[in-house]
Amino acid sequence: MSWVIDRSGVDALCRVLTARGYALVGPTVRDGAIVYDRITSSADLPVGWTDEQAGGAYRLKPRNDRALFGYAVGPHSWKKYLLPPRLTLWRAEREADGFVVLEESHDPPRLALIGARSCELRALAIQDRVLLEDACVDPYYRTQRDRLFVLAVNCGQAGGTCFCASMDAGPRASSGYDLALTEVVAGERHYFVADAGTPAGHEVLNAVPHATATPDEIGMADAVIARTAESMGRSLDTTDIKRLLYDNLDHPRWDQVAQRCLACGNCTMVCPTCFCTTVEQVTKLAGAKAEQVRTWDSCFTLDFSYVHGPGSLRSTHKSRYRQWMTHKLATWIDQFGTSGCVGCGRCITWCPVGIDITEETAAIRGGTR
Ligand code: SF4
Ligand code: SF4
Repeated sequence: MSWVIDRSGVDALCRVLTARGYALVGPTVRDGAIVYDRITSSADLPVGWTDEQAGGAYRLKPRNDRALFGYAVGPHSWKKYLLPPRLTLWRAEREADGFVVLEESHDPPRLALIGARSCELRALAIQDRVLLEDACVDPYYRTQRDRLFVLAVNCGQAGGTCFCASMDAGPRASSGYDLALTEVVAGERHYFVADAGTPAGHEVLNAVPHATATPDEIGMADAVIARTAESMGRSLDTTDIKRLLYDNLDHPRWDQVAQRCLACGNCTMVCPTCFCTTVEQVTKLAGAKAEQVRTWDSCFTLDFSYVHGPGSLRSTHKSRYRQWMTHKLATWIDQFGTSGCVGCGRCITWCPVGIDITEETAAIRGGTR
């Protein structure tokens, strides 16, 4: 069963979630992009803004309506809240007769993710698989994951680099949310069709003014999502993709892409499923305090594959790009039983030279040698 809330209902949802102790994080315009940050009401959302995205290109432009969620995903993903880019693990302090190790206590806030997209929910599920389901559970991720309320928004427009439809990851959220909205702006009417995915979502929806959605309203919302699926900027043919990549480790395309790749690591930083981290020990100059910090790492750095003896196992850009793409689309399936790519398109948009995972896959499939 679906319900409908009007434009003011979004602010009512924000108030209800805040009253239940959630800090709201959601999309907002900053530094020429739509990023995720703390918000308090719909006034903080990118009202009337949209984005244009292409390989290596992103810019905001005004919409001709007052849509709240009329844009595709930006450079941030929700992983920055669950797997922070920098997290202190422990500290040590020198004492008269040695040193003492102080455990860092992590007490992340209850967070309501406002406006999570279908591909992002799929990415969260993939990170759950990696960080929660094997022998080594990430305790920070576990705690923050248990303190989330997910308010999803079905995509009302596809970005120029999106290909979630071909990865079976969108644009309609099918699971992983408490409440999902579809925004409809039709002439003078501006409303949201709402579906609850959990009892918590039902409870929050019941606390704001809502009505049962009519067949017409549901039909309008379905049409919004169908149009989005039809207008994806990219697609990726996943047929037998694991075999395709395993059989082409020596394909000359890897040399061609390596001539363009800067090994900057942008693609891994923006990717919502990349999860690699490293640890650093930092000592204060006076030598009395030290700490161990976990930070995001990238398979594009020389040190990532460094081992004592031979040194870096992937010393060339070619070997690093091949490792990244083959892991995303093939070895990830062997490791975790799922693709490591949800088709969000971020790695294409935010690659400074516009390298495109869909184009590289197609080139290998096409057998261009
Ligand atoms: S593919 Fe693009 S974003 Fe990724 S490391 Fe190479 S140049 Fe940087
Ligand atoms: S590999 Fe690229 S398109 Fe796929 S999930 Fe990561 S950033 Fe998105």
